[in-house]
Amino acid sequence: MRLKAALAFVCLMALALTLDACSRPQSPQDSCNFVQNPELQRVSWKDHLPVKLYVHKSVPTDAYAAIDRAITAYNSGPGNGREIFKIEARGVDGDLNPQKDGYSTIYWFNTWDADRTTEQARTTIYWSGNEIFEADMRINAKDFTFNYDVNSSNFSAVDLDSLVLHELGHVLGLAHTTAAGSAMHATLDEGQVRRNLGAVDLADLKCEY
Ligand SMILES: [Zn+2]
Repeated sequence: MRLKAALAFVCLMALALTLDACSRPQSPQDSCNFVQNPELQRVSWKDHLPVKLYVHKSVPTDAYAAIDRAITAYNSGPGNGREIFKIEARGVDGDLNPQKDGYSTIYWFNTWDADRTTEQARTTIYWSGNEIFEADMRINAKDFTFNYDVNSSNFSAVDLDSLVLHELGHVLGLAHTTAAGSAMHATLDEGQVRRNLGAVDLADLKCEY
């Protein structure tokens, strides 16, 4: 049996397109725990909701329900019933190669970077100005096993509901925080259950949604 690192990370990679040189400077905003652009404005999908998600064929069908539950936490939470996420298609074809292709896609990887074995998942957001236009999520099934069962916890597996809830926060533009009760803590221990957005997350999301 292989020892796992005590801290496992749930990561965000944010890629900004070069700002249009002609764009007008905009005033700084409070972060509300959002990623901010160089002008210190929150980066989000603005009113381009719901965010359309595609589930790549690499994702096991057993995992669909956990993804749906995490989406429901957002759709019933910050937006006063406004639909935040919508699964547009599941089992979609295409290479196992997250890239800026116009589709926000969830991927499941059985291979992972050898120097990032403590990373449970990684979400990459793409934005222009202060608007996100695509986000891709990859889940590390090489270095971790996952629990999909909403009724139990498994202390040697990562709770998939909790992980996807966190990564979807990144999709919306949220960064990490140490605030009590937040789903956006940088680490998620195996067996830890964190399946609901915290009050602080709901308040942060309301700054943009
Ligand atoms: Zn994270």
